[in-house]
Amino acid sequence: MFFHKARKRFGQNFLVDDGVVHNIISIFKPMTHDYVVEIGPGLSAITEPLVHSVDTLLCIEIDRDLVRILEHKFSRYNNVRFIESDVLNFDFKTLNMGIRLIGNLPYNISTQLLFKIMEFSDQIIDAHFMLQREVVDRMVAQPSSSNYGRLSVMLQERYEIERLFDIKPDSFNPVPKVFSSFVRIKPLPFDRVKPKNYDLFKKLVTRAFSQKRKILKNSLGEWSNYLDWENLDLNSQIRAENLSVNKFIMISDFLDNKGII
Ligand code: SAM
Repeated sequence: MFFHKARKRFGQNFLVDDGVVHNIISIFKPMTHDYVVEIGPGLSAITEPLVHSVDTLLCIEIDRDLVRILEHKFSRYNNVRFIESDVLNFDFKTLNMGIRLIGNLPYNISTQLLFKIMEFSDQIIDAHFMLQREVVDRMVAQPSSSNYGRLSVMLQERYEIERLFDIKPDSFNPVPKVFSSFVRIKPLPFDRVKPKNYDLFKKLVTRAFSQKRKILKNSLGEWSNYLDWENLDLNSQIRAENLSVNKFIMISDFLDNKGII
């Protein structure tokens, strides 16, 4: 029998509600041939049902003590492997194509991790994450709403994002101060409308939202002089928060065609 004291610095709030685990697994629908990567298995609330359902399960856990506990607990199973690593430094490119990601994520690294998985989204079938509810609000936000920002645009450019259900703080131990949401992220088809120059698109979105309250004309600085505001159907008073993802792509392509950046 092992005892583990939750570590705050690793964002350890362990899921202790069987009903929530059941909901997660029934929505995730693990299939035998799936190649599943779990981020932060912790005390194995989600790992346990997954081990019994899929052929290949790879778990990435930063806490060395937990890795030891998990390796011991699952030593009889040869379909699961535990990697002691900071997921932010893990090279996903070393893995196969067709990965399904799952994780009750440590909230302190969730936005960084969402940006990281964009680098290898062509390898992913889908990702199911439990995140702080406020982060999910920003991920799914639509233009002209208060939560719409850089995270919404960057994620929605390449993913379909669906909020599945909310989870109360008392489903975890220790009890966090915030509500959580379970979310599904699915890469959009390769032939979707996408920016011709992705680096430029990234710079544009970052610059546009760097001063959210400013009108776009001002936040874009000298780039705004090159834009054909009328042809792009842009009102001179428009702010970044009013622009759809497609509009950002149009502006990015326009600047790219001009060879300005
Ligand atoms: N999956 C478990 C559950 O649902 O009960 C644990 C969830 S807990 C919120 C987050 C887990 O991620 C912890 O086990 C923590 O040690 C691990 N973790 C934190 N930071 C990490 C990182 N940078 N890389 C990998 N794992 C991390």
